[in-house]
Amino acid sequence: MTTPRLGSLDLSQDAVSLTAALVDVFSVSGTEAALADLVEAALRQVPHLTVDRVGDAVVARTALGRSERVVLAGHIDTVPEAGNLPSRRGEGRLHGLGSCDMKGGVAVILRLAAALSAPTRDVTYVLYDGEEVDADRNGLKRVQREHPEWLAADFAVLMEPTGATVEGGCQGTLRADVTVGGRRAHSARSWLGVNAIHAAGGVLDRLRSYDARLVTIDGLEYHEGLNAVHVAGGAAGNVIPDECTVTVNYRFAPDRSLAEAGDHVRAVFDGYDVRVVDGAPGALPGLDRPAAAAFVRAIGKDPRPKFGWTDVARFTELGVPAVNYGPGDPQLAHTREEYVPEAEVYECEERMLGWLSS
Ligand SMILES: [Zn+2]
Repeated sequence: MTTPRLGSLDLSQDAVSLTAALVDVFSVSGTEAALADLVEAALRQVPHLTVDRVGDAVVARTALGRSERVVLAGHIDTVPEAGNLPSRRGEGRLHGLGSCDMKGGVAVILRLAAALSAPTRDVTYVLYDGEEVDADRNGLKRVQREHPEWLAADFAVLMEPTGATVEGGCQGTLRADVTVGGRRAHSARSWLGVNAIHAAGGVLDRLRSYDARLVTIDGLEYHEGLNAVHVAGGAAGNVIPDECTVTVNYRFAPDRSLAEAGDHVRAVFDGYDVRVVDGAPGALPGLDRPAAAAFVRAIGKDPRPKFGWTDVARFTELGVPAVNYGPGDPQLAHTREEYVPEAEVYECEERMLGWLSS
């Protein structure tokens, strides 16, 4: 479909109407330019902000010389349309593509950017493209690569849908191949060989007896896991196999770096050949930082740990603790029935305003 030509984005309308206006500007990944233009133009009208742009990522900042700086970030792209445009309101919900993931959150960010001329912390507002596609198209990654100084901060909030509850940090993930050797032989004379598949039983024993850590960081309990996710071995129906590989996946709490996670997996499988094939670091919630602690108090609900991997980890790579917090049920993201409860949009806006005004 074609994007309706909106002359400009009115940041003075209420947050739900603004969400609807954002939903009605088509911005499936790869086509965000029109929406980025509108966002950039609207933010350039705001006298207390400095605005920069790289590609279709727009970054606006206050420069009040406060002792703390926080980032509020959201992606402006959506997954492909599913017959859910234009937006539609009813029964306290706003329906439509991207309403939940995450134009409700983007609307809150834009409202705060316009309203907060003198926030109690300096604020960097980041609206970026390419989140719903391959990581190499991610606009936040582009900003991180080309202008990491734009993201410098003490704390970051990604306004992805969390049901208006703080979700702290995220777990890291690592995949490794644990390979066991043997000696090939004809299965009719099996005593001449060493069966690698049988020997892999030792690897499985270690997995079965593995005690996964429960790690509490800033009051959030992260539950780790180390599991076999694939097994490969065997040469033919009449051959004693000389190699068997067990692929394991380690989901680790964010107190461990990716390198430390690799060391841990190697230690668990000491004596075996271990090769790390893939991994992504986790993200610390950083709730012990003053800006973050004040944030959690302002939201007024118990934070939850995040178990999947999200863009908050990019901030951790920059040394900026980050959390997810935004309107909408994450389980509705990417569905045809996607909607955002209007009350959650207003609630998030109000709580964020309270946090940045106190
Ligand atoms: Zn999202």
